[in-house]
Amino acid sequence: MFHQWLRPCLLVVLLAWLPWVHAEEAPLKAVATFSILGDMVKAIGGERIQLTTLVGADSDGHVYQPTPADAKTVAQADMLFVNGLGFEGWLERLVEASGYKGKVVTATEGITGLPLDGGSHQHEGVDPHAWQNLANAKTYIQNITRALQDADPVGSAVYAINRDTYLQQLAVLEQQLAETLGKLPEDRRSVVTSHDAFGYFAAAYQLKFLAPQGINTETEATAKDVAALIEQIRAEKITAVFVENMVSPRLLEQIAAESGATVGGTLYADALSPADGVAGTYLAMMEHNIETLYQALAAK
Ligand SMILES: [Zn+2]
Repeated sequence: MFHQWLRPCLLVVLLAWLPWVHAEEAPLKAVATFSILGDMVKAIGGERIQLTTLVGADSDGHVYQPTPADAKTVAQADMLFVNGLGFEGWLERLVEASGYKGKVVTATEGITGLPLDGGSHQHEGVDPHAWQNLANAKTYIQNITRALQDADPVGSAVYAINRDTYLQQLAVLEQQLAETLGKLPEDRRSVVTSHDAFGYFAAAYQLKFLAPQGINTETEATAKDVAALIEQIRAEKITAVFVENMVSPRLLEQIAAESGATVGGTLYADALSPADGVAGTYLAMMEHNIETLYQALAAK
């Protein structure tokens, strides 16, 4: 009689130990191709993943050259997170070189890519910079969460909580963005940056972005392009140009000097700042960009 009562009790004790067993398991090895995506993956994966980001802070993902160490990292990964839409032109070769056979999670899956204007150099004919619209970031977060839940069902509830927290923060920022940029008058909505990284931002928030370089930083701006842009800045009375964190500011400074516009600050386009900088996370980056654009465009 005593024994019959004890047995379920032992089972309860054993079950209570199970979380310990899981906590001792090695975390999921996740690799993200660039810093912005890596930050989102970390926000959802938290302590359950061990993340390596290939293209780090302030670095240019368009022209990245993977190292042998990267191939080794990818070879040992459980999951590989990529932006897609042709952003990582170097990825296929890296995956091949590494012999990686695991899951490749495309964060932009389900997002309709913005078509590119004719004439610019392009990958797959769409603009890869989808993260520059907060609405698209929701899709990134959903795709990342689903992939982590599939790979690690034990952590499913944790990932769901992290996702919900993140989506809430996105909603707050979206509101803030609409309010801030909504205050800009019609004639103060044109901006010049280094390369065409802000197509999604422009489309979502009714701004006009011009750039001497096309969609990909691989393409150098020609003297003719630069001269035409300076003309346009003068003709449209554009007051501010912005440098980008992962592109040399020299050309933009020259354009500002020759056109009479001022340098309105640094926008974070394709990479975060280091963790202790002003754009150490995706959310901080978007907030910084909104504030920087507003301050420069609203100035008389
Ligand atoms: Zn770019």
